[in-house]
Amino acid sequence: MTTTSPPPAPTPSNVIQVAVPVPLARVFDYDCSELPVVGARVKVPFGRRELVGICLGSATPSEGGYQRKAVQAVLDTETVLPKAVFELLQWAASYYQHPIGEVLAHGLPTLLRQGEAANYQTTQGIRVTAAGEQVELNSLRRAPQQQRLLATLRKGPLLRRDLVSQELSPSALKALTDKGLVENFAHQPLTATDWSFAMGSDALQLNPEQALAVAAMGAATKPQTYLLEGVTGSGKTEVYLQAMASVLQKGRQVLVIVPEIGLTPQTLRRFQQRFAVPIVMLHSALTDRERLDAWLDAKHGGAAIVIGTRSAIFTPFAQLGMIIVDEEHDNSLKQQEGFRYHARDLAVVRGQKEQVPVILGSATPSLETLNNAEQQRYVHLQLTQRAGQAKPARFSLVDIKQMPLKAGLSIPLIERMKKELERGKQVLVFLNRRGYAPALMCHECGWLAQCQRCDAYFTVHQRQQLLQCHHCGAHQRLPKQCFDCGSTQLVGQGVGTEQVEQTLTELFPEHPVLRIDRDSTRKKGALQQHLTDATENKYPILVGTQMLAKGHHFPHVTLVALLDVDGALYSSDFRAAERLGQLITQVAGRAGRASEPGIVVLQTHHPEHDLLQDLIQNGYGAFARSLLQERRITQLPPFGQLALFRAEAHEAQQAQQALQAIAALVPHHPDIMVLGPMPAIMERRAGRYRYQLLLQCQQRGLRQQVLQHLLPKLEGLAELRRVRWSLDVDPQDL
Ligand code: ADP
Ligand code: ZN
Ligand code: ZN
Repeated sequence: MTTTSPPPAPTPSNVIQVAVPVPLARVFDYDCSELPVVGARVKVPFGRRELVGICLGSATPSEGGYQRKAVQAVLDTETVLPKAVFELLQWAASYYQHPIGEVLAHGLPTLLRQGEAANYQTTQGIRVTAAGEQVELNSLRRAPQQQRLLATLRKGPLLRRDLVSQELSPSALKALTDKGLVENFAHQPLTATDWSFAMGSDALQLNPEQALAVAAMGAATKPQTYLLEGVTGSGKTEVYLQAMASVLQKGRQVLVIVPEIGLTPQTLRRFQQRFAVPIVMLHSALTDRERLDAWLDAKHGGAAIVIGTRSAIFTPFAQLGMIIVDEEHDNSLKQQEGFRYHARDLAVVRGQKEQVPVILGSATPSLETLNNAEQQRYVHLQLTQRAGQAKPARFSLVDIKQMPLKAGLSIPLIERMKKELERGKQVLVFLNRRGYAPALMCHECGWLAQCQRCDAYFTVHQRQQLLQCHHCGAHQRLPKQCFDCGSTQLVGQGVGTEQVEQTLTELFPEHPVLRIDRDSTRKKGALQQHLTDATENKYPILVGTQMLAKGHHFPHVTLVALLDVDGALYSSDFRAAERLGQLITQVAGRAGRASEPGIVVLQTHHPEHDLLQDLIQNGYGAFARSLLQERRITQLPPFGQLALFRAEAHEAQQAQQALQAIAALVPHHPDIMVLGPMPAIMERRAGRYRYQLLLQCQQRGLRQQVLQHLLPKLEGLAELRRVRWSLDVDPQDL
């Protein structure tokens, strides 16, 4: 008899489910020698890569089949995503039918996605040195940026990451540091005990409508969603501030979502002036480390107020007390690629889950929100008067049929501008097309310079001497001769902001012109500088694209002109009318902010058009309510529920076939309509053919059922492997 040693005992092993950031709608099983907590990050092998995933709990090991791989490292001892955010992300993954691994990764700052430890390194502060305290401020008068930075720091140290949002210049910081007037130091991170509520400046005396709104929010017995519909300049921000005060007073935090943070320094300043509490801003100029620090400040409770763009909706909080979504109608709240969520809609969901009030504010609410208010799912609060002394602007339609135009400007408009400028007032000219001209044509043979990769013409950029495609970025030197006939008679077709700027400079040589569009604000800090200059009336004439339409106060502007509103009147996009109404109303809101009433000039070939008449005679509120009636009849959102599949490929047929394969899987049902496959508005872009398939369902529940039935089947479709495809639930752009 021989004795054999017993086989080695297997190392105790757990099987866990991991959400891995890959575009597959499923979770993966891994062996793990320990049992990580749910929500902890784990490093796992995936194919040939190493990825950071999130543990979703233990799994029952499935028999047979493939060889499970082992977790390489457990990165956290506690959940990295607090319960509330975790649940919000899971809800969103299911609602938007987006792969859970990618959605969860979306909830993490970049450094955490890469596996960095979820804690502070050092936060960089900046402060004045002894030499900096002593030096004469006046000695820096030739360097105003440095002078301003030094003056600010003398009032107290700053976090380095707040430089940009306070409109202070990083190069001025470097200069002052080199001179020994300013130094870096390791700032202690904020902790929950670091702040207690304190007012900065005094609150304004509310007008009756504002008072009613604030009181309604204070009196609610249970958390609700509020629509604060207030005309531009009606003092919505003041309502936010006073509603926030009582939340902050209880030691709870407030999340404020804004469309584009670079555009609202004035709003930020008002928050900072009002409350002496730590305010954290999540903006695109933050480094990855700064973003993680800000995220931790919110999570640990050190930040009293967090202000950020759409992705801030996933910020964790120790004690969330209120969510505010400003300009809730703004399209930039919807993510347009990858995980296509709407931050406003998620704010409402988060408010319900965390039992905190949500305020949606806008002068031009989206039809979705308006309908929710009318159905009394939201509390509807209205501010119908401009606050202070500001008066509503008056509209004036200029019929430009058969009128001679100078770079898109009619004579009556030019005359009006002249009058305002001579009175020392400021005028704003709005045109949503940058560049010099939207096309280049040969005067002899009619040839048009077209992008090779898109169904689009090249835009002429005169100053840079370039032809540029605004859809794929392709560009080339401005040609001197026609590619077809060789003629040198090439002329720009149509008008862009660059041309308007040039023409206005010629027409009004004594009044400097400032153009604000994507081209003129490319340099870091340029937008802030331009906006400051515009507000201070350094330039009596402002020309710009929709960048100028949003939320700024230009107190000296008394005349606003929209050069071309016709495009939207006959668009195929069912949201075009809503958007036009919002745009006109928002742009109009820039006029007459101070005591002077403003005039809004709309140039159009269709002054009699019902939409325009409804808007200018009855205002956005009534206009939107009649659009809502139309949507009800046509069963479009918010009454019908949409889901859009998009596919693109080098061959049109492949994109079509992919969508046909999806369409074939949609169950037949009287309440489901399938439209397409049809070409996208621009069929070819960047060398790819683009098609779409629209599902229109009468109820949201039905749409969700259909998608849940459909999605798992798509992974197996051979037709889909040849194309790039995506699903957009509640699409904003068709
Ligand atoms: P909105 O956000 O609705 O466009 P704002 O909140 O920016 O309007 O307010 C417009 C202007 O009116 C601001 O200059 C603000 O300081 C002022 N304002 C707001 N509420 C009051 C008030 N109750 N009394 C006096 N001025 C006010
Ligand atoms: Zn030609
Ligand atoms: Zn192109």
